[in-house]
Parts: sequence; structure tokens; C-alpha cells
Amino acid sequence: MKYHIVALGCQMNQSDSERIRSVLERVGYERTDVEEEADLLGVVACSVRQKAIDKVYSRIHKWSEWKKSRSVMTFASGCILPADREKLMDRFDLLFTINELPQLPDMLRDYGLVTPGSLRAAEIDSGRDDADREYWKIDPAYSSRFDAFVPIQNGCDKFCTFCAVPYTRGREVSRPSDEILAEVRRLVDSGYRSITLLGQNVNSYGLDRQSSGATERSFADLLDAIGSIGTETDRRFWTYFTSPHPRDMTDTVIDTIARHRVLAKQLHLPIQSGDDKVLIRMNRNYRVSQYRRVVDKIRSTIPEATLFTDIIVGFSGETSEQFEQTRAAMREFAYNMAYIAMYSPRPGAASARWEDDVPQDQKRWRLHELGQEMMATSHAYNRALVGREVTVLVERPDRKEGYLSAKTEGRLIVRFASEDESLVGRFVTVRIDSATALSMEGSFVGVEPDTLSATSDLARRDHAAFRCALDAMVGAAVGG
Ligand code: SF4
Repeated sequence: MKYHIVALGCQMNQSDSERIRSVLERVGYERTDVEEEADLLGVVACSVRQKAIDKVYSRIHKWSEWKKSRSVMTFASGCILPADREKLMDRFDLLFTINELPQLPDMLRDYGLVTPGSLRAAEIDSGRDDADREYWKIDPAYSSRFDAFVPIQNGCDKFCTFCAVPYTRGREVSRPSDEILAEVRRLVDSGYRSITLLGQNVNSYGLDRQSSGATERSFADLLDAIGSIGTETDRRFWTYFTSPHPRDMTDTVIDTIARHRVLAKQLHLPIQSGDDKVLIRMNRNYRVSQYRRVVDKIRSTIPEATLFTDIIVGFSGETSEQFEQTRAAMREFAYNMAYIAMYSPRPGAASARWEDDVPQDQKRWRLHELGQEMMATSHAYNRALVGREVTVLVERPDRKEGYLSAKTEGRLIVRFASEDESLVGRFVTVRIDSATALSMEGSFVGVEPDTLSATSDLARRDHAAFRCALDAMVGAAVGG
């Protein structure tokens, strides 16, 4: 029997779908990428964006039509608002929260479906210490053999007014750090080269457990322990995390990233707006001056780090002057990448009750303007790397025929001419030949060693190159 899963929304949903796959495969289901072939069809839904929830409805409409002519079963899980949950309950055969995942085999059987492997949920946990059924204990069926997501936390306590996540995923719950470190160690031992720690608010990791009396590592301590895995194993890998909240970004976290080679020199620090009044309405709980202090600390401690951000334009009540403040912040902070979104009210979020009063054409103009700012600075950065050799991790064949697609440690896209797919998942040196704002093109120089001890000179080379590119970018931003 075959299953097919559609994962919508963010990386956390992708990661959840890897654990659902694992449970289904352990009870004997076989994965298919062809929807029409599947006996069991599932969606990991996202209520946070209207577009994503629309996709859920169109999927279930199609699948319900199929049910008229053949036997299929449907399920939904993921990040679902209570109002959507009620509506979806009638449409899907099974609806479960991700915490209920270990009970999925029982649910399938209760529904009257004999799972191919005939395993009960308890048997899935066999060999483990106790009958703990937390879904985090399930080993995921990773989608990649070299690049993995590791969830460290679920839910969010921040209640930004534009966001529905605290209502879909609930309050912050941290995964025990021993479990996280064991998963990271397994990944490193099996040759993974890129690991991304996931959570809605990663840098408040551990606080919920500490406040309930448990002994738990802080986020900085967790990163430090991952850094030590690099030192102990001498394996080369890059560890990322997303997303941190600027309010909780401590100097200790930044110092820890600087100290360990396996902690990637890339930070995603969502600013959302460059205006204090808008930040207050967004309930972001920091001011631009506090954000600036964090960026200054990053620039002085890890000057080679690339900086990414998220920005919303046209938030309810945003004036032209407030938008100009965001433009000024973009120039000042000179981002390598900014994910800029036009505000739209999200069902369930507090701001959905407010007037969406910035006209659509104004939002589009603001989006375009910020996009241009971002392109100017990122182009200056990428251009400064032309002629230099950098390390990249090869990800896949590129859309451009005869090329492979790769990323630098700072998550900048580099493509280079090669049809050697055995390079996918390897660290290689590429000489940068040309650059645009969003990517670079280069020539293959050679495969790099997989151990940290053999690559210290290469790391120094990269750091020097990226620092020089940063100077060029900041110069362009100031000039702009
Ligand atoms: S920090 Fe804000 S934007 Fe991020 S998940 Fe929590 S409420 Fe949403």
C-alpha cells in the first residue's frame, strides 16, 4: 500500500512530514510521489497563510472526488487554526495534531484499515526506555542524505499581532536537549553536512523547561554542545538555526557561534519593520535601537557572517514616513537577503481585527522599493567575491543544464559547470566568475576534505573573502 503526503507552509511542516513518513513506513506503507497511485493521502496543512489553506481545500476536494471511484483514505495534520480544524474535520477521514502522531497506526486501525505491517503504535516505540510517545522521539525519514532539519522547539509565546502561530501550534515547548544532541550526533556520524535547528523562536529555547523546574541547557549551551560534537568528531558540517527573535538574541549566543567552526556564519534576524511605532503595534517587543545593538555585535564578533531578514510592508496603519524608516533600516543593516511580504491579515491573528488600510498599490510599491534596496546591497556583496575561491556545499543539479547548484556557508547561491552528480552532498571549492544580486556563477576547482582539521586554511580563506564582500556591501548601502 502506498502513501503520498503534501507538506505546505514552513520548514517546520516539512520536518513534521518527515516524521509522519517514518511512522507510515514503519507500519509498511511505501512512499509514492504520484498522488494518483496512493491509497493513503495526507496533507500537512498551514492555516497561517490563506493561500496555503486554500490549497488544502482544493486538494481535499480532488481527493473526495477520487473516493467515488476507488478506495482511498485521507488525513490532515500540521499547523491548523481551531476554526479551520472544525471545517476540515468533516472533510478528512483523520485529523490529528503532530503530538498525536505516535498514535497514527492505532487511528488507522480504528478506522478499519489494516496497516500492511500490522504494527501498533506501542510497537513503534519498542526498544525505547519507556512508552513515551512524544513525536520528537520518532526518528524521521529524512528527505535528504546530507541536509537535515532538527526540531528543537514547538509553539510560540510571543504573540506578534500579525501572526497566528501561537494559536495553531500553541505555547512554546522545548524538546529535551539530550534528545536533540543525540539526533545531531547520529546525523553527523552518518555524514550529514548541513543541519538546521528548527523552532518558531529558537533562542528562547529551554526557558519553558527551566521555568517548570527542569534542568535544561540554554540555547547558547545547546549550540556550544553541538560545537563540541564538531570538535570531538573532527567532522565538517554547518549548523544553522531558524528563526531567532531579536529580543532574545544574547551576546553569548553570538560569541558561541564565533567560537565553533561547525556553527554556520549565517544569521536570519527578522526585523519586520524599521519603525518603532509599527514594531509596537506588531507587539515585537524590541525597538530599532535594540535590533541595531544585536547587529553591531554580530558585525564586530563575526564579520564574515551573512545576514538575512523578514520584513512586512503595508502593515495596518503603516504611514509613508514609517515605511521610509524601514527603507533606512534596510540600508543601514545591509542584508544579504530579505524576505519581504506585503501585509495581509491572517485569520486568527490579532491584527485581522484591524483595518487593512494601506492600499494594495502602495503595498506593491513599497515591496518593489525594498526589493531594489536589497538587490543593490546583495549585488555589491556578491560582486566583491568575483575572482575569489570559496567553499560551497553542492545541493542538486541546477535548472541550467550542465550545472550544479550549491550554497556557501552564508547560504548564498552559487552554480558551477559540472555534470558530476557524485558531487551532490560534498564540500567543494569554486572560483567565482560572475555575480548577480541573487546568485553567483563559478568554476569548479576541487573537492574539499571532510574533516575540520584538514580545512582550517580554507576556512580562513573564506572568512577573508566574505569580510571583504561585506565591506563592499556596506559601502554600497551607505552610498545608496
Ligand atoms: S515570534 Fe511572532 S512571528 Fe514568530 S512565530 Fe511567534 S508570534 Fe509568529
